[in-house]
Amino acid sequence: MTLQNKTALITGSTSGIGLGIAQKLASKGASIVLNGFGDAKEIEAIRAAIENDYKVKVSYLPADLSSERGVSELFEKAGGLCDGFDIIVNNAGIQHVSPIESFPAEKWQLIQDLMLSAPFHIIKRALPHMRKKAWGRIINIASVHGKVASVNKSAYVAAKHGLIGLSKVVALETAQENITCNSICPGWVLTPLVEKQVDLRADKDGLSWEDAKNALLAEKQPSGEFAKPEEIGAIVSFLCSDDAAQITGSELTIDGGWTAQ
Ligand code: NAD
Repeated sequence: MTLQNKTALITGSTSGIGLGIAQKLASKGASIVLNGFGDAKEIEAIRAAIENDYKVKVSYLPADLSSERGVSELFEKAGGLCDGFDIIVNNAGIQHVSPIESFPAEKWQLIQDLMLSAPFHIIKRALPHMRKKAWGRIINIASVHGKVASVNKSAYVAAKHGLIGLSKVVALETAQENITCNSICPGWVLTPLVEKQVDLRADKDGLSWEDAKNALLAEKQPSGEFAKPEEIGAIVSFLCSDDAAQITGSELTIDGGWTAQ
């Protein structure tokens, strides 16, 4: 229970990778603040299950993080729950796949707002508390697409490359303050975000869902297996430990060999 007395905000934790991270940090004793969209009853069931399974305090703050106003609202509401966040996991994300000439400008902007600007606004608001406590962990969920590109993902690839750059600057600005900031770069993880891409591929190529899923993996991920949300959670948990105190400004890749090629 190494994270007792720590409060962790995990953005976009109502499904997929964020939920896996929330469960792992709860298992280490952290108080959890969930965020993200979804059906109110389902989210309450998720919240109550984590609280019950791990006997930690779990709250849910439903802010839309695609604007600075949404980030401000989240921090205002958080003021009633805790004195600040000790652990920040910037995870909320979306995808849009299209060639650049037909890529809708509003999708481009939404992806930058949610996946690059929101982490900036959140880190800016979280740092004073971390500095006061002389302890903090900031983990940005980037992607292999923060290191390499794929066709038709201009906004996503640009935002993730930017997020890795932002992480490095934060790491340097906090290097002597017992605060670390790192990026995690997953390859394919089977979550709702990727299921939609499998749907698109199955439609486009006239494949069964299973064949489209296997084709997606075969194209990029040499292991032929998806990474799992709980495996990303395990890396986050390690980065929050004292053993990881000197890991800052790094990118940790979990991609079944994708970027080794
Ligand atoms: P997901 O669709 O399962 O979860 C996304 C989460 O973000 C959900 O909780 C959703 O409600 C939330 N969200 C969306 N828009 C939001 C908004 N405006 N404000 C607040 N929350 C919002 O997706 P996932 O695959 O778990 O992705 C999580 C992160 O991991 C993303 O940043 C994604 O880019 C990254 N990632 C995913 C993969 C993968 O293969 N799944 C690979 C690399 C990186």
